[in-house]
Amino acid sequence: MKIFGVLCGNFKVDGGAMFGVVPKAIWSKRYPCDENNLCNITTRNLLIDTGERKILVDTGIGTRISAEFLKFQYPNGNDTLMGSLHTLGYSPKQITDVVFTHLHWDHCGGALVNDFNGNPQLQFPNAQMWVSKQQWEWAINPNIRESAAYPQNLILPLNNFGRLNLIDSSFFLTPEIELRLHRGHTVGLLVPVINHNGRMIVYAGDLIPVAANIPPIYLSAYDIYPLDAIAEKEAILEEVVKNNGVIIFQHDIRIEAVTVELTPKGYKVREELAIEKL
Ligand SMILES: [Zn+2]
Repeated sequence: MKIFGVLCGNFKVDGGAMFGVVPKAIWSKRYPCDENNLCNITTRNLLIDTGERKILVDTGIGTRISAEFLKFQYPNGNDTLMGSLHTLGYSPKQITDVVFTHLHWDHCGGALVNDFNGNPQLQFPNAQMWVSKQQWEWAINPNIRESAAYPQNLILPLNNFGRLNLIDSSFFLTPEIELRLHRGHTVGLLVPVINHNGRMIVYAGDLIPVAANIPPIYLSAYDIYPLDAIAEKEAILEEVVKNNGVIIFQHDIRIEAVTVELTPKGYKVREELAIEKL
């Protein structure tokens, strides 16, 4: 098995939204922000090549989201989904599976691409797509708090091709890749837990977006059920420490992956790692 980070460009998020109730005087020492209080974060999707299957987890922002929407997201950087896959030596047709951790715009936008007539087509025509049933239902009928994060033009057409698989409980996509169902960030969030040559690797997604979110109360204000998110984070951190596992970050612009230790002051990064060395 080989694992790659697939960088799909950066965007900016208000630091207060990134760290919730944690004061800026504290979080700004752990993650930089600009003069407008914005933190630049990346979209680091995951490609897992098992030999037989080439599994892409999340698809980044893509090209179909409106310029009006993006005006407030400050996209930046030169990385794109197609460019990064090409650099890694993969073509879209080789991808066998696309897993959506969830359907917020920055996770699902790259799965579709417009054809010459402006109609959405599959970016990965040979892939089966996977998302939790709970998240699908949540996303197509969004609550008022999350509705901006679910542009319906990115989501509804995913179901037009007979390739969308809805999972209603934690699920092994392959014997080594478990998709665990969560709900703190959003209902039906899937967190991939990978057995990579005997080592536990957690692709934390929006459960722990950047390394500075490791302390369980350093929650993003986007999390819809904060106490559940804290409990889910504590459980996964405990398991990672016990198994000497690795956490890969989807949104940390600098830190790809870490090991974690439990100190008297709580959970801390033990070692920063590069995904290609895992
Ligand atoms: Zn999200």
